[in-house]
Amino acid sequence: MCLLKVEHVQKYYGNGGNITKALNDISFDMKEGEFVAIMGASGSGKTTLLNVISTIDTLSAGDIYVRQENISTKKEKQLAAFRKKELGFIFQDYNLLNTLSMEENIALPLTLLKEKPAVIDASVKQMAKTLGILDILAKYPYEVSGGQRQRTAIARALIHKPSLILADEPTGALDSHASYLFMEELGKLNEERHASILMVTHDAFSASYAKRILFLKDGRIFNEIYRGELDRKA
Ligand code: ADP
Ligand code: ADP
Repeated sequence: MCLLKVEHVQKYYGNGGNITKALNDISFDMKEGEFVAIMGASGSGKTTLLNVISTIDTLSAGDIYVRQENISTKKEKQLAAFRKKELGFIFQDYNLLNTLSMEENIALPLTLLKEKPAVIDASVKQMAKTLGILDILAKYPYEVSGGQRQRTAIARALIHKPSLILADEPTGALDSHASYLFMEELGKLNEERHASILMVTHDAFSASYAKRILFLKDGRIFNEIYRGELDRKA
């Protein structure tokens, strides 16, 4: 089933004679359970594309549908609810809050959705068990290892069972071994739990885990490859 439909999306910055076309007629679909990477040089529009899909940024023109619902026409209040319920975010630095324990960090999306404490507690324990971080739940982000922080960020992105996981340069701050471990986790999430993942990266190694790669250039999709095509050539 079609999860995400991006249709003729444009995003301009600036005004008058000083306009940057950050996104210039972008269209693509993403099916449920797909893992798509967006690659491109710095300034090609990757972050802008992720930000308009996550509704953090508004569109200049075009439409974005999530499960046939047009999110480009929603009001900010509905959008906030949409983001909380349907999206999971993984950022480069993981954005874990140092004032919260790992348990509270993981619980955050459910807390924002005003879930019952008993439900939150059970969900966090279950998720932490799956990811092997049960023993660090009472600790704070600065007290655990990089790998444990990664898994906590993944747990937080998944805890509310979002329709779509958006990852912005998730391995950008990691060395090659940590990148490998992180991408293995993300790959498993897609393979085993059929999580739908849209990931921005400029790193070919990370992109190789995706099933499909969209290449952006000057705000346009100028190429698209499926991993199957690469496999056949290998
Ligand atoms: P990438 O993530 O691929 O590096 P961006 O999406 O950040 O690319 O940027 C795409 C283009 O839009 C660039 O030319 C950038 O300078 C411009 N841009 C991005 N954000 C803004 C902004 N807030 N104001 C003005 N121009 C912007
Ligand atoms: P950049 O790509 O420039 O490094 P980030 O990807 O870190 O920026 O963040 C993109 C935007 O998403 C930021 O403005 C951040 O505040 C916002 N953001 C982070 N987490 C959430 C969330 N859970 N819901 C909505 N917006 C978020």
